[in-house]
Amino acid sequence: MATTGGGVFRCTSCNEFISASATQCRFCGASVNAEEATRLTLKQSELDEAISAARTIKAMGPMILVFIPLTIFVNLYFPIGLAVILEFMTIRWLIRFANVNAPEVQRLKPQVALFTVLGAVAFALMALVLAAYSIAVASTNR
Ligand SMILES: [Zn+2]
Repeated sequence: MATTGGGVFRCTSCNEFISASATQCRFCGASVNAEEATRLTLKQSELDEAISAARTIKAMGPMILVFIPLTIFVNLYFPIGLAVILEFMTIRWLIRFANVNAPEVQRLKPQVALFTVLGAVAFALMALVLAAYSIAVASTNR
C-alpha cells in the first residue's frame, strides 16, 4: 500500500497540495521534513482512497439494491450473492476507513453504514423468500 516517490500531501503551513518528494513548498516556500512528508503523503493517500471507495459504494449501492430482488427471476441464488457483495464492499470500507480522522470520511461513514444495513435487510428478505420457495416446492412435490 505504501508508495514511494509518487503522491501528494497538504503543506502544513499553507494547505496547498505539494509533491511527496519536494523539499520545499512551491507555494509558500516552507521547508519540508522528509519524514513528515512521507507520513502526510500516506495519510493523504488513505484519505483519497477512503473517499473514492465511499463514492463507489454510493454510486453502486442503490443499483445493487434494485437488482437484488430483480435477479431472483434469473437465478434463485443471485440475490443472495449480490447482497453478499454489497455487505463485503461496505464492511470492508468500515473496517479500513471508519477510524480515518478526517471530516470528509466521518461524513461518509453513516452513508456507507446505511448501505451495510440495507444490504443486510435485503439479504434477510431474500433468504426468507428462498426458504418460503423451498418449502412450497417441497410440499408440491409430496
Ligand atoms: Zn506551503
